[in-house]
Amino acid sequence: MSRKGKSTAVGLLNHANDCFANSILQALASVPTLRNFLDECDDKQESLACALKEMIDSLNEPITYPKALSVWPFLHELEAIYKSRISRSQHDAHELLHLIFETIHDQRVKSTRAEHADRLSQKKPTSASPATPIVPFESYTQDIITCATCGYTPPMTISSFLVMSLNVPNTWHTTLDKCLASLLNTECIRDFGCDNCRYTDLKRRTTNNIELQQRLEDIDPAEMPADIETLLNKAIVSTIAKKTLLNTLSPILVVHLSRSIFTGTASRNSCRVEIQEYITLTSYQNSVEKTEEFAAGQTPTYPAQFQTPSKVRYRLAAMVRHQGTHQHGHYECYRRKMNHPIEVSLSNESIDGDGQQFARKHHNLIPWKTGEKDWWRISDTLVWECRIDEVLKQTKAAYLLLYEQC
Ligand SMILES: [Zn+2]
Repeated sequence: MSRKGKSTAVGLLNHANDCFANSILQALASVPTLRNFLDECDDKQESLACALKEMIDSLNEPITYPKALSVWPFLHELEAIYKSRISRSQHDAHELLHLIFETIHDQRVKSTRAEHADRLSQKKPTSASPATPIVPFESYTQDIITCATCGYTPPMTISSFLVMSLNVPNTWHTTLDKCLASLLNTECIRDFGCDNCRYTDLKRRTTNNIELQQRLEDIDPAEMPADIETLLNKAIVSTIAKKTLLNTLSPILVVHLSRSIFTGTASRNSCRVEIQEYITLTSYQNSVEKTEEFAAGQTPTYPAQFQTPSKVRYRLAAMVRHQGTHQHGHYECYRRKMNHPIEVSLSNESIDGDGQQFARKHHNLIPWKTGEKDWWRISDTLVWECRIDEVLKQTKAAYLLLYEQC
């Protein structure tokens, strides 16, 4: 526990089951990239982002005496947006985090579109389409499908996510890398309707129809006209291989270790998941520009040959742990200290390479010396200093991991 006169962190009061929200707000306060993004948000149209900025700034106040705030001014803003009440019973921290991200994302989309319409009406210079709304926690995956019968690969589909949910296996031990690998594996799907197999079959069946044959010559199986589609034999199915890859990776990556087991009743999976301070992911970015359709929220397609793999490195900024059962438990947050220069005596030899690299990128931050107690463990109003090793030891309870690109 923090002593008087020594630097400490602002805690959050727990009136009744508030730990789910307290832990999330503390975690979000440890991500400088998020705080920088919130500065760009519009006061009127992006009310949740503004409420979050206020909360984060209050939580990051450098103090040397115990201090605790209530999370409710922020939660009341969420209630106002959805015109509903958040009950005082137990809630899932992951669901709250997703709701916060989704609301900030949606408010940003609306604000960007309104700004675009405004510029058009005032005849100010603008791009041809609304700019793609960008939030620093939205990443994309892509699915590549290959038909085992004909080898056809339709254009890949791109999906976005705000939180990366990983299934934790029902074993006693695993690693974060293994959980990530199971998301990005290749799966076989039977009885899939391959457009190309059905198209080839149609061509074979209709050799006597010269007019149809000529039309079919110019058709791309991926963009079958509706009248041709009705002629296809839907009974033709094949086995496909579906590979999921990471596409665009955002500056902030939140990993949710899904620990729910449903066997009649819901229970909690206490599998030990070895977590890492640094992770490196491979993204397959598109070297072609995002299309106008994409900005309007539709799914674009990119040919595989335009994909360039690149490595993206992340560093752990915060971790939310959950202890107890599926129904009843307690959330705590481990968060990396925001580095206040008054705390640090810099010695280049004693700072590890990763820390220096991170500090150069986020030049307002100064790294702590390796091995120092540069993390806070926060359980509502209780605050302890700790080292990264203690964070990484929380293998049975680790629930949400907030990573930041470095
Ligand atoms: Zn096929």
